[in-house]
Amino acid sequence: MAFNNRVILPGSERQAPADSQQIGPVPRHETVLVTMILRRKNGQPLVMPETVPVSREVFAERYGADPGDAALVERFAHEYHLTVADIDLRKRQVHLTGTIAALHKAFGTDLALYQMHTGQQFRCRTGSLSIPKELAGVVIAVLGLDNRPVANAHFRVLSAAAAAAATSYNPPQVAALYNYPAGADGTGQTIGIIELGGGYNASDLQTYFSGLGINAPSVTAVSVDGGTNSPGGSADAEVMLDVEVVGSIAPGANIAVYFAPNTDQGFIDAITNAVHDTTRNPSVVSISWGGPEDSWTQQAQTAMNAALQDAATLGVTVTVAAGDNGSSDGETDGKLHVDFPGSSPYALACGGTTLQASSNTIASEVVWNEVASGEGATGGGVSIVFPLPSYQNSAGVPAQAQTGYAGRGVPDVAGDADPSTGYNVLVDGQNTVIGGTSAVAPLWAGLVALLNQKLGKPVGFLNPKLYSLGESVFQDITSGNNDDSGLGAYSAGPGWDACTGLGSPNGTAILNALSNGSGGTGSS
Ligand code: ZN
Ligand code: ZN
Ligand code: ZN
Repeated sequence: MAFNNRVILPGSERQAPADSQQIGPVPRHETVLVTMILRRKNGQPLVMPETVPVSREVFAERYGADPGDAALVERFAHEYHLTVADIDLRKRQVHLTGTIAALHKAFGTDLALYQMHTGQQFRCRTGSLSIPKELAGVVIAVLGLDNRPVANAHFRVLSAAAAAAATSYNPPQVAALYNYPAGADGTGQTIGIIELGGGYNASDLQTYFSGLGINAPSVTAVSVDGGTNSPGGSADAEVMLDVEVVGSIAPGANIAVYFAPNTDQGFIDAITNAVHDTTRNPSVVSISWGGPEDSWTQQAQTAMNAALQDAATLGVTVTVAAGDNGSSDGETDGKLHVDFPGSSPYALACGGTTLQASSNTIASEVVWNEVASGEGATGGGVSIVFPLPSYQNSAGVPAQAQTGYAGRGVPDVAGDADPSTGYNVLVDGQNTVIGGTSAVAPLWAGLVALLNQKLGKPVGFLNPKLYSLGESVFQDITSGNNDDSGLGAYSAGPGWDACTGLGSPNGTAILNALSNGSGGTGSS
């Protein structure tokens, strides 16, 4: 009988989260949706995206899953009494459903019910998954068995204590300070936004945009793995911030908000749904969620990175918040961390600044670090997972300060993020000032929509182009650091740095450089 010899699924090992406890078994009859991610056709290693984005047809032909691999997984599912919900060769995904008992046999793992200190319950597994030998190398990840929360929303609400001394801006004011291109509103573009919780109220959006004298953009909620637009919780601040920032900068664009559960499965499925969405066809996707690199399983990180690689290959720009907890990324293990997926080499990682203006020009801009007053600091540093990408070869990225690893430097770019120089937004009927690198990802996504409209084609995978343009199209940030825990590793300085990347944008200068055809060849 086939499928009897089992092997470990590489990179699937995980431990129970520290701040949670086991409270019992998962009911045996419970049915779970599992995502299996398959290798690319011919095991093709897609290393760096092509200079010219490929069409969806060419992508499916070259980089999708092999139908033979999918058929093998179907036979495996049948053998183990799992139901195939759908197969998507472009996304290289097979969705299966099965009972806890069947999944136990299929993947060699036990699931237990755990509870976090917040009271939230989730299915948890420890150790590694196993798969039949026939699937070794064919399946690169199995997601959805363990559904612990994986990401934090990277927004910071200005505290009442700090409010008196604070400045705040409407997003279009920040766009003007960054010299965003005139005569463009994102018409013809779709901006995708990934949300792992919360929701928006359409009436709040109407009120907000009309208060700014802007026609409200078209906003559509897209459901992924059962996630829905569900306003009423604290994550609404993230959702409303994202929609209000992109919507006020690019009100002519269509905005598609992909809602998914806050699990590694939900996060990855949301990205693949956005990137491969042939209906709405986003040219840019904004992500303001993430978690420290070492909180992910290797298999989930590999699958997520491959999804972002798909985006780059298809010419979809993905902007990602770099985090709001300085060089520790909020962990207390005495180590330096960068945030994932911002640390993916295929993400445009967005760091944060403190921005002061006078008479509509920038008076000063430094690294966002308000740790002393409890108002956060930009994420940034060097990856311990991803090697230095070729586009950063000349950027002067230091070795990771604790391990010496020659990793990817984070962030790539920056923008205003300090809550004390934050953004005026409307959340669940309340006027609020919010900052965080959560604001910078949509700020950059809005710019990309304007660039795409002006250029008449998507800028696509922007990182290699921006690094070859260099400082002339940025406001270089040279002052400050993102130390939040005495680790003292990374400071700003001339040129790229591990707090603010290349700097904050001069939008019109970027447009002019890209339309002159500068910006390099796009890879290597
Ligand atoms: Zn599915
Ligand atoms: Zn750690
Ligand atoms: Zn700099």
